[in-house]
Amino acid sequence: MIDLKRIPSMDEILIQEEIKQLISRYNRDFVVDTARTAVAEIRAALRIGSTDIDTGSILTAIIGQIMIKIENSNSGTLQRVINGTGVVLHTNLGRAPLGAQAIRHIQEIGKSYNNLEMDLDRGERGSRYYHVEAVLKRITGAEAALVVNNNAAAVMLGLTTLAAGKEVIVSRGQLVEIGGAFRIPEVMKLSGARLVEVGTTNKTYVSDFSGAINDETALLFSAHTSNYQIVGFTAQVSTKELVGLGRDKDIPVFLDLGSGILTSLAHGGLKGEPTVQECVEAGADVITFSGDKMLGGPQAGIIVGKRQYIDRMKKNQLLRALRVDKLILAGLEGTLLEYLAGHPEENIPIIQMLTASREEIEKKAEKLVSILEKEMSDIDYSKTPHSANSGRSSTSLIEFKKINLEDMVGGGAYPIHKLPGAGMEIDFKGLSLEKAAAELRLQNPALVARRQDNKMLISVRTLLPGDEKEIAVMIRKLLQGSTGV
Ligand SMILES: *Cc1c(COP(=O)(O)O)cnc(C)c1O
Repeated sequence: MIDLKRIPSMDEILIQEEIKQLISRYNRDFVVDTARTAVAEIRAALRIGSTDIDTGSILTAIIGQIMIKIENSNSGTLQRVINGTGVVLHTNLGRAPLGAQAIRHIQEIGKSYNNLEMDLDRGERGSRYYHVEAVLKRITGAEAALVVNNNAAAVMLGLTTLAAGKEVIVSRGQLVEIGGAFRIPEVMKLSGARLVEVGTTNKTYVSDFSGAINDETALLFSAHTSNYQIVGFTAQVSTKELVGLGRDKDIPVFLDLGSGILTSLAHGGLKGEPTVQECVEAGADVITFSGDKMLGGPQAGIIVGKRQYIDRMKKNQLLRALRVDKLILAGLEGTLLEYLAGHPEENIPIIQMLTASREEIEKKAEKLVSILEKEMSDIDYSKTPHSANSGRSSTSLIEFKKINLEDMVGGGAYPIHKLPGAGMEIDFKGLSLEKAAAELRLQNPALVARRQDNKMLISVRTLLPGDEKEIAVMIRKLLQGSTGV
């Protein structure tokens, strides 16, 4: 039992060379506070006997703790994750990784002054909403465009501007909830518009809409059923029918598209969802979609449509609260320029993942397996580990092989579509899958993968260049840590 009195005093800790160095690099109060926390934790651990530090090393243990704490708090909590799930747009993993041009543009604009709100032609104050509007108009064919924080904000701004105090007609089959926080009925309420539900869950006809129109009707609204699909005996009103009715009655049609596809993904096997261009062409008056879903850019809410409606939104005070940042505009502009340049399937990571051919995916899976084999070539991982005290009866440390699996689009698009994928299946043998998965998650970068039948599955579709090598190093490190090979 250690005498608690032998815990060194704060003065003694602060004169240690390592701590003096920390004080020269960081704020002194921060280092002292961290030292106090470290001492309190070690004292508590000694008191309940949950640690086996010997007296001689208390000081060393405290110094080590202080250094770890400072390093951790100095590296932040947001970190890189390798996505081995095969879910291309994973909201928990930050949705779309950005392409090179978006990153370059963010870097350039972020580190310098810029013309965010200056009209350089006239040398006068300009508008941040001017940027990317022209390129959005060119890509989508719409009369006007506006960018806000996210699609939830876009829907909110649109409804408040065009329908506060009035009625909005929506099909019962489209009262969606997205990601647990965005619910059409609630957003409607917040916007001040009154929701008028028509039709039934599985069937809604254009006559249901026309029957509900009265003097109070401000909008005909359609939300994309991004994360579910109603199958069986169904009927939904098409955009064309809705636009026809809206024109007849002089009521604008509002489409919350959610994902916002800007290029055909048919050669990746993804069909059936309309592109933004098709919705504009069909005559929808206001269309909203996310910047970080199928578009492949940063988080943003994009509104395109008829100028008269978008002009009204630009004048709404609420826009000030939803305004988009310069870094986002830079990332979005960089991404949109890739669409204009015409090769999104090469230069926008998520479009590349979604349109990858069967052969590319197969090759990537073979590469992952062979890189891991190479990384482990000096470890006899397929034989009994020679550590005598391991006490395990398994004959190998790990077994891995290439397999076929199914990937998902995610992020509110093609909710029931499975993409034929490939990857690596790992059986950790002696190590529990829970423990292996947790250890890989706790490294930096972290690896997040799937599991099935007590094995780990790493899908290669969502791996970015260089991830294969890192995964191999991580797995080696995991085995070394757990077995000492
Ligand atoms: C994803 C989605 C939203 C929310 O968009 P965010 O950009 O996440 O705010 C709203 N409506 C639909 C139909 C969606 O799919």
